Amino acid sequence: MLGFLEKVADYTKEAVSAAKYLVEGLSVTFDHMRRRPVTVQYPYEKLIPSERYRGRIHYEFDKCIACEVCVRVCPINLPVVDWVMNKETKKKELRNYSIDFGACIFCGNCVEYCPTNCLSMTEEYELAAFDRHSLNYDNVALGRLPTSVTSDPSVRPLRELAYLPEGIMDPHEVPANQKRAGRLPSEILKDLQNEDSQENKNKADKVINKLNSTN
Ligand code: SF4
Ligand code: SF4
Repeated sequence: MLGFLEKVADYTKEAVSAAKYLVEGLSVTFDHMRRRPVTVQYPYEKLIPSERYRGRIHYEFDKCIACEVCVRVCPINLPVVDWVMNKETKKKELRNYSIDFGACIFCGNCVEYCPTNCLSMTEEYELAAFDRHSLNYDNVALGRLPTSVTSDPSVRPLRELAYLPEGIMDPHEVPANQKRAGRLPSEILKDLQNEDSQENKNKADKVINKLNSTN
């Protein structure tokens, strides 16, 4: 009889602890259901790159004077400037220009130093290809106008996710006191510090100390 009662007690204890874990797990689920998603549903949603984003390089063949400054300032001498000397006019004649984006590190040196501004960094970042040789862009491919996330009707453009009110894309236009859809990292840290849980407080302190040490 005693053995049976012990078994019942053990079973009840296990059932109670299982229910506790179930409720704990569901509370995490319900807590996340209230939050704004932080993931981007790519390719239906895309983040708008920042103004100074260094994406695929755009090149204007007509402006290029074949000076090869871009080659000299490139850390890996990457741009290929194919030109011939016209003996009659004694001027360089540009034949072809190419950059291999499979090797480019998008440092922007060539764009910075080009004397005729015929190179520019675009916000295009979708360069994935099945064949790495197709990443070697000639002057025709480099001259193609970049695609823009904001002008593509099939894409929902997002900027800075939770920090901006819903539907607003430009962070510079938002008044400082306007309610934002989500919280800034500094606000989340402050809330964690004010929480009862010592563990969360310690975590927040650790992050703040790390941030202070890197500044
Ligand atoms: S620096 Fe500019 S102008 Fe000179 S070769 Fe390069 S792209 Fe052409
Ligand atoms: S972005 Fe940098 S690595 Fe790429 S071609 Fe220009 S200078 Fe070279």
